[in-house]
Amino acid sequence: MDLDAIRHNVALLAGRASGAATMVVVKADGYGHGAVPVARAALDAGATWLGACSMAEALELRAAGIRAPVLSWLDVPGTDFSDAVAAGVDISVSSPRELRAVHQAVDLLGGHGAHIHLKIDTGLGRNGCPPEEWPALVRAAAAHEAGPHMHVRAIWSHLACADEPGHPSIDVQAERFEWAYRVAREAGLHPLRHLANSAATLTRPDLHFDMVRVGIAAYGLNPVPQPENLIPAMTFRSSVALTKRIRSGESVSYGHTWTTQRDTTLALVPVGYADGVPRGLSGDMRVHLAGRNRPVVGRVCMDQIVVDCGDDQVSEGEDVTLFGTGKDGEPTATEWANTLGTIDYEIVTGMRRPRVTRRYLGESG
Ligand SMILES: *Cc1c(COP(=O)(O)O)cnc(C)c1O
Repeated sequence: MDLDAIRHNVALLAGRASGAATMVVVKADGYGHGAVPVARAALDAGATWLGACSMAEALELRAAGIRAPVLSWLDVPGTDFSDAVAAGVDISVSSPRELRAVHQAVDLLGGHGAHIHLKIDTGLGRNGCPPEEWPALVRAAAAHEAGPHMHVRAIWSHLACADEPGHPSIDVQAERFEWAYRVAREAGLHPLRHLANSAATLTRPDLHFDMVRVGIAAYGLNPVPQPENLIPAMTFRSSVALTKRIRSGESVSYGHTWTTQRDTTLALVPVGYADGVPRGLSGDMRVHLAGRNRPVVGRVCMDQIVVDCGDDQVSEGEDVTLFGTGKDGEPTATEWANTLGTIDYEIVTGMRRPRVTRRYLGESG
């Protein structure tokens, strides 16, 4: 994990944010990169907010001593928000029920204020208050505003198709967001606004408002079609556990899906689908080994893959790069995702600990 790459990406994104604040989203353990080290690197590089999905994720940042503003946005009904309120974590509210839950936590603690971000569903159809119920939610929140302990810091929403610049839904969502803001203002609130994810940060300066929320681009993976100067922070490495010669006509791995047509050298690499190498890549992946990309042959197993090295000299113990920045021609997480018909978000969040261990470069900053 290259924390200097995170710093580079966050500084680039903060510079593209039209003067808006930059929140770096570190949900899912920092997209599989480690939430706490990523959060620290992001704050070094100019981020001023952190985003977590659950309250537990937000509290992990606080437990590590990170004092920066944190927003947490999705928990199940019945969650007790007192720990989040006590830790000064901003809480997203999508419904009157959630508003009551936060208010209960505030009451229970007595004296601790809570900052809330009211979330409107402008068309993603997922988390967030439907427009029909928005005026009532805003009024309920405004009523608490009169008291000393609950404050609406922001209204916010999330885009469905920002990674397809020009998609008509983006403008529709933006219009509904404008409407939601007007309703909030008419109810007497003076909230900040945030809407843009990585893709909208890179392509829609008109939607930056007071803060952008960047996730994937901070990790160096580009969500938009246009090229961007981002550096992937995650490199997935292993080494050759064993080499051997096999004869023409021999087959490799479960199901014997691959048979060599010539005598060849195989290199065994001790990673498999239990580490995060998707089995769906069987027959369709390469790794960087001894100076170039070489095909993985036969099926990806739970613990092992086998690389065909032809007549080249490869040594046991030699480094193997499964994916990285692509700078030396090695595969990237994005290439894996494209082969599988998925997105690179799923690849980097799919690295399985404790089998895969993390090592950080640039830690001292
Ligand atoms: C994950 C997430 C983001 C970041 O999205 P990216 O596409 O990774 O930039 C922003 N906002 C919300 C609500 C999210 O859940």
